[in-house]
Amino acid sequence: MKKYRDIGFKLTPQRIAVLEYLENNKEHPSAETVYSNVSKKFPTMSFATVYNTLAALRDRGYLLELTIDADKRRYDPNIHPHHHLICKVCKKIIDIPTEYMLQIPEHLRGGFEITGNHIEFYGVCPECKQQRAT
Ligand SMILES: [Zn+2]
Ligand SMILES: [Zn+2]
Repeated sequence: MKKYRDIGFKLTPQRIAVLEYLENNKEHPSAETVYSNVSKKFPTMSFATVYNTLAALRDRGYLLELTIDADKRRYDPNIHPHHHLICKVCKKIIDIPTEYMLQIPEHLRGGFEITGNHIEFYGVCPECKQQRAT
């Protein structure tokens, strides 16, 4: 929590509840999921508070906003470079911490200096595959 105070992020009890929910969370939750979990502890918490907290953390670089799920933006507290694999059926997202040495040919780069990449893989998770088979 200290790192947030150091960046001038005002820590209200509600914000702390959001941060605690996100800490080591690998589910890539949507704002709605964060809200439904955190509001169990803070019934007076509004969705706007959750959304604004997520946006503030994203703007400060402490949270990744993923657009891999076309239905909802999803949030990722793991800000180290990694890729994602999404289940096309249940929209579960898992981390792919592998580095891929991909090169864009010079003539296609438009003069850009490449600083990173993010690959979105799609598939069907084991649970959904199982359900389809039955
Ligand atoms: Zn699935
Ligand atoms: Zn991730």
